[in-house]
Amino acid sequence: MDRIDFRSDTVSWPTPAMRQAMANAPVGDDVYGEDPTVNRLEALAAEMVGKEAGLFVASGTMGNLTAILAHGRRGDGAIVGEDSHTFRAEAGGMAVLGGIVPNPLPTDVYGRMNLTAVNQAIYPDDCHFPTNRLILVENSYGAKGGYPIAPDYFQEIRHIADQHGLIVHMDGARLFNAAVALNLDPREITQHVDSVTFCLSKGLCAPVGSVLCGSEEFIQKAHRARKLVGGAMRQAGIMAAAGIVALTEMVERLADDHAHARRLAEGLAQIPGIKLQPELVKTNMLFFTLDESVKVTPEQFVQRLRDEANIWLSGGYSRSFRAVTHYWIQEADVDLFVKTARAILQ
Ligand SMILES: *Cc1c(COP(=O)(O)O)cnc(C)c1O
Repeated sequence: MDRIDFRSDTVSWPTPAMRQAMANAPVGDDVYGEDPTVNRLEALAAEMVGKEAGLFVASGTMGNLTAILAHGRRGDGAIVGEDSHTFRAEAGGMAVLGGIVPNPLPTDVYGRMNLTAVNQAIYPDDCHFPTNRLILVENSYGAKGGYPIAPDYFQEIRHIADQHGLIVHMDGARLFNAAVALNLDPREITQHVDSVTFCLSKGLCAPVGSVLCGSEEFIQKAHRARKLVGGAMRQAGIMAAAGIVALTEMVERLADDHAHARRLAEGLAQIPGIKLQPELVKTNMLFFTLDESVKVTPEQFVQRLRDEANIWLSGGYSRSFRAVTHYWIQEADVDLFVKTARAILQ
């Protein structure tokens, strides 16, 4: 990567080992269940999150949608964080395609819904209301700076779900970031949910794909839902091969991305005009704002980082920014970001 790209971890290129594995992958028609590489990836993924089975899907969005379609029916309700990815950033798929009625609740600074509010959001058994069906959770929580939520919260959510016969699905797009940051086996988090999706394509660097995991019976249903949304693929082993490398070689090293994000946060926090809370930076992303005293416009800030140091940052239309670290960002890149930002803002 020639540019230093902090816009997202989705920009990360596949590693040389992935390209090698892709070139050599044995393949078959996955709709017939005959792609050995896809089958291996699905089994490995399921094992890593402590579920019976997995399903390779094209994206995190497709994983969540497929899960929701498989779990729910038209007219079912889903309790969901109002700033969660599934509610806010997936084109309304659950409602548009599934007829699922979202019931969005506020979240705290870590991305947790208030448990009393969750209880109160469960509808009485009355024909006026949607049918209670789902609780959707997310970890790490993207809208709250990628905060890794500890398992006890999910245990509480599980408890509420069990009392009311609800299903819990986790959007774990960055589940492994959360697990590494919390120094936990991912299973300690996912044991409390019925199904979970995670992305191979973000910090784990695979070019494409996510895996949805859950019980054998649920994954059978999810196969139909994936077909319905056009996501059943053929020789998908070419892509699954990169996913296997992602899961076997790229998980532990996420700690480096977290250290880089923390280093960046601490560096930027010392620059007059930049506001951020380094103590909230636990995984690979950070949010910061330029305060009113700063003379450059947000747009100029983004442009000058790009022109002067080939540092790419998204945004520029408001004073709030998000920077994300990944495999292709080194410590020297972080230091260059801090130095350049300081020069621009002085
Ligand atoms: C990226 C992301 C998704 C969706 O992943 P895509 O592969 O971009 O569709 C879902 N949830 C969260 C929290 C994400 O960050």
